Amino acid sequence: MTARILVVDDVAANVKLLEDRLTAEYFDVMTAADGPTALELCSRSQCDLVLLDVMMPGMDGFEVCRRLKADPKTHHIPVVIITALDHRSDRIRGLEAGADDFLTKPVADVALFARVRSLARLKMLGDELRLRAQTTREIGMSDALREAVSDTGEQGKVLLVDDRESSSTRIYDALSATQGVEIETEPHEALFRAAEGDYDVVVVSLSLENFDALRLCAQIRSLERTRATPVVLVADPDQNARVLRGLEVGVNDYLMRPLEPNELVARIRTQVRRRRYTERLRANLQTSMALAITDGLTGLHNRRYMEMHLQALLDQAASRDRPISILVVDIDHFKQVNDRHGHDAGDDVLREFSRRLKASVRGIDLAVRLGGEEFVVVMPETDAAVARIVAERIRTKTAGKPFPIRSGALEITVSVGVASFFGGEDDAAALLKRADVALYKAKTDGRNRVVADAA
Ligand code: GH3
Ligand code: MG
Ligand code: MG
Repeated sequence: MTARILVVDDVAANVKLLEDRLTAEYFDVMTAADGPTALELCSRSQCDLVLLDVMMPGMDGFEVCRRLKADPKTHHIPVVIITALDHRSDRIRGLEAGADDFLTKPVADVALFARVRSLARLKMLGDELRLRAQTTREIGMSDALREAVSDTGEQGKVLLVDDRESSSTRIYDALSATQGVEIETEPHEALFRAAEGDYDVVVVSLSLENFDALRLCAQIRSLERTRATPVVLVADPDQNARVLRGLEVGVNDYLMRPLEPNELVARIRTQVRRRRYTERLRANLQTSMALAITDGLTGLHNRRYMEMHLQALLDQAASRDRPISILVVDIDHFKQVNDRHGHDAGDDVLREFSRRLKASVRGIDLAVRLGGEEFVVVMPETDAAVARIVAERIRTKTAGKPFPIRSGALEITVSVGVASFFGGEDDAAALLKRADVALYKAKTDGRNRVVADAA
């Protein structure tokens, strides 16, 4: 991940220090010595994160942050405000200005890299979402992705694993205004609960009594159902080495005691957003994959899907020496339906026919709309005799009951060609061809009938 970080500080030595450390970790670094330059850089060039000093002459860090967050061109760029240790009220002002996180001077490496990685990754996920939202909008899909981009990261479901009541109460009180928090006091139950609960974030106390908190974090990371769930550690100041270990096993972020409520709220919000981004990206990917292999009008598989799978199914049948058959089904005189009743009525007939087709075959059979009013059914474990019976069932289910359209009902019939796989040199193209020839014979013999390949 090469994120581009903008470091903003009026003191050249501070800029240099951060620049060197970030460059050593292979981040791409830009620098600015004042607010206006920072704003200019952000709006002009791609930037994944801003590290922003508060105390600057002229425009201070809060004002820079406010302006970045007010501009639609830059508001998605995460901003980390760097405050002096003794200026806690700065954090509240920072939050009000829209900052995503805080760091305290002098900035420790662990904290710096954890924050920067976490937020830069979030920004990149957000970019990916925005990009997809744009393309899906262009092809007329939903705005769900666009909504995700403007997610505030609140009202998430948080699991807090902490066996010390004084600590869990403090965390609960700080978070409950913005998040739904559930407390688990029994570490042995935590993994099970995390896997069952569909949480947006799991917060783990590093100081669990009689239990290795990092083991729990590692288990959460490796379990299929919790792999993508963000984990945040709450540590004591003397646990730096353990925090580092945690980041190595995949913990997403951490907080040091004594906890600062604003910091806690901001970090959990970031993780909730991350989790929702990832979930939406995943859902979007699944939808586009499903769309790519599905016929939009009928919901059946499309030609592309059949072309990808038919040969594999044949190879499988050949290697196991099992039969497999296909049907090619074509609606009779379908052009007349369109001509007499309109294209919408034609579409209704196609949809209704697809329902009947699907209801006539087994779950393992592949029902495909090849295009127009032509369909294919691929039937594994099915010999020619059984295939004929299925074809006949499809034919009678079609002819037996009129098809409802908006202006009444229509008698519809189909012709079906049947062909079975020989094995050996036989392949998908030859099989489809034989079924097509049989279909052609069914048409020329008078339609509304089943013809099986003579071979
Ligand atoms: P045959 O009995 O010989 O199969 O005659 P046919 O009229 O069914 O066949 P032909 O190939 O001449 O016409 C098919 C028609 O299907 C022509 C085309 O406009 C129509 N068609 C193709 N795709 C769609 C679609 O998605 N919706 C609708 N409503 N019509 C379609
Ligand atoms: Mg300064
Ligand atoms: Mg036809």
